[in-house]
Amino acid sequence: MSDADELQVLNPATEEVVATVPAASEQDVAAAVARAVRAQTGWAALAPADRARLLRRFADTVDAHTEELARLEVREAGHTLGNARWEAGNARDLLHYAAGGAERLLGRQIPVPGGWDVTFQEPLGVVGVIAPWNFPIPIAAWGSFPALAAGNAVVLKPAETTPLTALRLAELALAAGLPEHLFQVLPGHGHIAGRALVDHPDVAKIVFTGSTRTGREVMERCARLVKPVTLELGGKSPNVVFADADLRTALDPFSFLDNSGQDCCARTRILVQETVLDEARAFLADALAAVVVGDPADEKTQMGPLISAAQRDRVRSYVPDGAPALRGSAPDGPGFWFPPTVLTGERHDSPAAREEIFGPVAVLLPFTDEQDAIRLANDTPYGLSGSVWTRDLGRALRVSQAVRAGNLSVNSHSSVRYWTPFGGYRQSGLGRELGPDALTAFTETKNVFISTEGPAQ
Ligand code: NAD
Repeated sequence: MSDADELQVLNPATEEVVATVPAASEQDVAAAVARAVRAQTGWAALAPADRARLLRRFADTVDAHTEELARLEVREAGHTLGNARWEAGNARDLLHYAAGGAERLLGRQIPVPGGWDVTFQEPLGVVGVIAPWNFPIPIAAWGSFPALAAGNAVVLKPAETTPLTALRLAELALAAGLPEHLFQVLPGHGHIAGRALVDHPDVAKIVFTGSTRTGREVMERCARLVKPVTLELGGKSPNVVFADADLRTALDPFSFLDNSGQDCCARTRILVQETVLDEARAFLADALAAVVVGDPADEKTQMGPLISAAQRDRVRSYVPDGAPALRGSAPDGPGFWFPPTVLTGERHDSPAAREEIFGPVAVLLPFTDEQDAIRLANDTPYGLSGSVWTRDLGRALRVSQAVRAGNLSVNSHSSVRYWTPFGGYRQSGLGRELGPDALTAFTETKNVFISTEGPAQ
């Protein structure tokens, strides 16, 4: 993308221009942060119950616009309508959950001699949120809403390709009665607006979701200002399938095809016990052939396009012509399409087996026994998510303890609930979002000692 001061939003299913929006300059970011500093002072001074009430009103406003937000997500990001509806609902539900937290930001009373000791969770000030294009609504929400509930202002920079739903969320916040400039959305380029937000001394914390490469740069720049950072980065998650599992459920292709594989939790390393490998291969071949790929606005569609031509080229580079693979189909013509694919001839240490592809491509790898499965599951620099499938409870517990990842599912492919913590080990990130401690991540702990000693006699 050029440095032009406009961003062109394309419909990935048709390549038509959906909208053009201005791209924020460094000066725009500085002005937004200055407005946010002023808005935050008033917001933090409100009684927690009043903040909670306004956030619940925001939730109701999002609820009334769920279908509109979902349809916008379909047009700017190519998500299937069903997924997009879930995403808008997730933002609404998180608002309700975070609103409840505003009144539960509890401190502690710690026994000390000679007085009382109490702690307070105080807001940080202005939080900068930098979001990627793969889940524009939820990721904007996860970074921003708990921060607001904890008494902060937020400046959010959405991805270049998907600014529209975030802009709409900011309008809905105002319509619901949130103070002006408390939740600002500034579309812009990463190396201009993103960097300006990271480098701004009045931005007290950065929440970054995106690639591990950019996350590393964000962390380095935050280090110069000793600025706290939450990083939600890439993944290459295992799906560990033992021979005693229900193969049909364990090998559900949507464990890696959901959102066309543009999901940091996608189970793209399918590890299958070698005694059932042939059965797994036959099942996956049929399952991929049955996937309905096409117009994401059609209710019957199961998988839409990739976000951009660049992303399609990147995905294609991992699937050379003639590579041994099971393949589904994808439309021809306009749109950034790629067929569901499982590579069957990869070694466990090949780039396709270790690097994040971020498309509808998985690798199928055999393992011999429990120790071999654990070794292969941990054999990437990432540690975000994963599934373990077995009817043996002891084995399920042993393997889920041994796999080094932040979000594991046993006999399930689910990863994300707004009321449980989410985040990665190793190069998948730093810190956690969502869950009961989400608000605390947007506070400083203040300790106050109050002497009970009387005046000297
Ligand atoms: P990206 O790192 O290129 O961009 C992410 C965001 O950072 C965008 O808003 C971009 O404009 C901004 N940015 C780019 N350069 C910047 C810089 N120098 N300083 C500040 N901001 C900058 O990633 P992407 O291609 O947009 O997103 C895909 C990646 O995100 C994948 O690797 C995926 O795994 C990861 N991801 C992780 C999670 C998670 O929760 N762990 C969730 C979704 C996506």
